[in-house]
Amino acid sequence: MKILVCNVGSTSLKFKLYDMPACTVLSQGKVERVGSLDDAVFQYDNLQSGSRVCEEKAAIPDYKTGIRRYLGCLTSPQTGVLASVSEIERVGYKTTLSKNYFGNHELTDEVIEGMRAWLPLATLHNTGYLQAIGVMRKALPDAIFLGCFETGFHRDIPLERRLYGVPYEWYERYGVQRLGYHSASHGYIADTLGQLGSSYRAISCHLGGSSSVCAIQNGKSIDTSFGMSLQSGLIHAARVGDMDCDLYEFLRHEGLSDEQIHEGFEKKGGLLGISGVSSDLRYIEDAAKGGNERARLAIEVFVSGIVHYIGAFYMDLGGLDYLVFTAGIGENSDMLRRRVCEKLGVLGIVLDEDKNAACHGTRQELTGPGSKVRVLVIPTDEELGIARRTYEYVRA
Ligand code: ADP
Repeated sequence: MKILVCNVGSTSLKFKLYDMPACTVLSQGKVERVGSLDDAVFQYDNLQSGSRVCEEKAAIPDYKTGIRRYLGCLTSPQTGVLASVSEIERVGYKTTLSKNYFGNHELTDEVIEGMRAWLPLATLHNTGYLQAIGVMRKALPDAIFLGCFETGFHRDIPLERRLYGVPYEWYERYGVQRLGYHSASHGYIADTLGQLGSSYRAISCHLGGSSSVCAIQNGKSIDTSFGMSLQSGLIHAARVGDMDCDLYEFLRHEGLSDEQIHEGFEKKGGLLGISGVSSDLRYIEDAAKGGNERARLAIEVFVSGIVHYIGAFYMDLGGLDYLVFTAGIGENSDMLRRRVCEKLGVLGIVLDEDKNAACHGTRQELTGPGSKVRVLVIPTDEELGIARRTYEYVRA
């Protein structure tokens, strides 16, 4: 069965075409800077023949153009892997959230309506998905569309760890509760650890453009750092993370406009806001090495947040078997892993410094001598997790 997995960012599109159940990736593609008329990037790879399309400075004004471009490459005589797009039986999306729908759901009118209803919680993400799903629906009218919602993996978190201290009716009437995100990634880590044995306690650190920590017990999430919206938990690349809700009013009182406050929390906060250097940790690391104090501070704030959640989750789990690092930063930054593990010495965690320094983007065990916890880098594969769930889906 041919399954297309589609990951929509606020200005990006990523595709992978799978042949299931073999899990073979036939082709992959990505568009960056959707919306640009002269600076978009389009890449397409036929992983069977090795043929490639790569355009920079492209005009990709909207999702429709990006999606059509990818589907065009999929069926072109030079680069294609399909005779017709109608061979795609299912499309799996890494959808963010929908009111009342949390796991894997066929994208019916009700589920789409739920995505619209909770637009204020994930405006950029859901807007992109709603547009992309509409375009894809026209191109693939007979395919089954499945939304693998990013909240799904966290539904087993006990209610006492999901409830905020708000009037209980807000939970009942509006669904106010901690939902958690990054389900495709933490779920993939749980699947991978499950192959080592079914009984375990793990903490998965997904550290990337947005970051979250998740406590996993025997394959299930029992706590996570994200709250109800994406504007919570750890500091992110340019988003603030956990925030004191009265600061909004305070900053208005100090003379900032709503727009300035939103921008500070959503686009000019996080690693970027503290460092003043970049939202990309690579540049922040370089600046810190060069003596930039704010860059050093941004790294320390990030590390402290990660360690704070790991400490809390250690207690939730009643101990720890695996500490896992994943996503862009977790897989690639040996400095970040070293700083986190240094602070976790009190839990008996010892990192193998040499293996850590040499590990960039590959699966590897970094456990040092005498460590009470196994430390692992597991490159995440969110698309594969979604392809599996989309393949397994059975229509009711
Ligand atoms: P997203 O959340 O956007 O999917 P990724 O998981 O791909 O992001 O992570 C992207 C981030 O990973 C970048 O912002 C960059 O800071 C970080 N990153 C990638 N490689 C390195 C590296 N070698 N050292 C430090 N950070 C890195």
